[in-house]
Amino acid sequence: MSRLVVLGAGESGVGTAILAMKQGFEVFVSDKGSIKPQYREEMERRGIPFEEGQHTEAQILSANEIVKSPGIPEKAPIIKQLRAQGTPIISEIEFASRYTNAKKICITGSNGKTTTTMLTYFILKNEGLNVGLAGNVGKSFAWQVAECNYDYYVLELSSFQLDGMYDFRADVSVILNITPDHLDRYDYKFQNYIDSKFRILQNQTPEDAFIYWNDDPVLKAEIERRNIKAQLLPFALEKKNEEHAFVTDQQLTIEDNFAMPTEELSLQGTHNLYNSMAAGLAATLMQVKKETIRKSLATFEGVEHRLEYVATVRGVRYVNDSKATNVNSCWYALQSMKCPTVLILGGTDKGNDYTEIEALVRQKVTKLIFLGVDNEKLRQFFSIHSQCPIYEAKSMQECIDIAYRIAEKDETVLLSPCCASFDLFKSYEDRGQQFKECVRKL
Ligand code: ADP
Repeated sequence: MSRLVVLGAGESGVGTAILAMKQGFEVFVSDKGSIKPQYREEMERRGIPFEEGQHTEAQILSANEIVKSPGIPEKAPIIKQLRAQGTPIISEIEFASRYTNAKKICITGSNGKTTTTMLTYFILKNEGLNVGLAGNVGKSFAWQVAECNYDYYVLELSSFQLDGMYDFRADVSVILNITPDHLDRYDYKFQNYIDSKFRILQNQTPEDAFIYWNDDPVLKAEIERRNIKAQLLPFALEKKNEEHAFVTDQQLTIEDNFAMPTEELSLQGTHNLYNSMAAGLAATLMQVKKETIRKSLATFEGVEHRLEYVATVRGVRYVNDSKATNVNSCWYALQSMKCPTVLILGGTDKGNDYTEIEALVRQKVTKLIFLGVDNEKLRQFFSIHSQCPIYEAKSMQECIDIAYRIAEKDETVLLSPCCASFDLFKSYEDRGQQFKECVRKL
């Protein structure tokens, strides 16, 4: 019997173990941290052997194959040992895809993945298709493959998931954009991260499709130098020649047969135009009716922590964009700001270069608040490159107290931190939640 060891007992790891049991593998799950009670109970109930708080080498090194949680980095000692002895290490997505014939729409990019994935799923669901949502959002893909019988999946894929994918084939792949992110996991080499994103295209054939943003310089250069077999379906704000989705006369247009006024789109801002075009194109490929696409694009409610309006207090708007964990997504957030902005930045820096937002900060930001354990890099950069007064906070409560004191009527307080949240918060969700709670108490 083939022995499959799952490293990491979160949603994807437990889902993998369930599917592997069903497929007749000898399964063992190992988590170096503590396992959430709901997952522990699930494994106990199903008789899946597991350990927590440690990685027992004898149990792990004897595996024929490993499914690794995307959160475990290559430099983890157990991974190094497995690599050294040549044990194949794959991701949950790779493993689960072996056991489904469903059509897979796979979405990656540095920013906009979750929004586009949820929007695409929303459209397909509104069409009445039997569709699952998985990957970086929703329930585990493997779990759904084991227990649901979907004809379609919309999968959000991070670069870490793509790194563990080899034979997986996407029916439709989408790359929204590529800007530097997670460089700490890619030897600080941007090209490594780009290559990771392009793994979404591996194994695609001329019957498959590749949707991408045609104005992204990084994508453009890569596409030119690669031999891509899938049909190319670029989108852009303006139709130059080959675009399959674009904006013309303020209408979002897809191929020759779909047009809707951009003001009717529920998600506003330039970046969301791209997301809507990508989702609309993917849905069109799945033969979704125009009417369904139109209605869905007009009624989609957006995703929490993404430019989420929280409240207006004494004439000051508070906006939660906690999911902006890199500089580029903050750029788009700032770009969509219509009022003077008090900007909250800070957290765990991932090798950020703030020159990207320097001009927008000068143009739109009146005050800066740095929220983090170590704000040195931010302070050094913005004390030279902006005229704004700078404030610092070490907790969300302190940060909102400052914002409340310094923000003037008709300004917007924007949490769009450019950084990961792990210095002061459990996750970006926790950071966004705390932001909202503090604001609502004002
Ligand atoms: P991801 O899942 O890739 O992190 P999200 O959909 O969660 O992306 O959005 C994260 C942040 O990125 C949002 O808060 C928004 O400000 C910004 N954003 C969303 N879509 C795009 C896009 N197409 N291009 C650039 N930035 C975007």
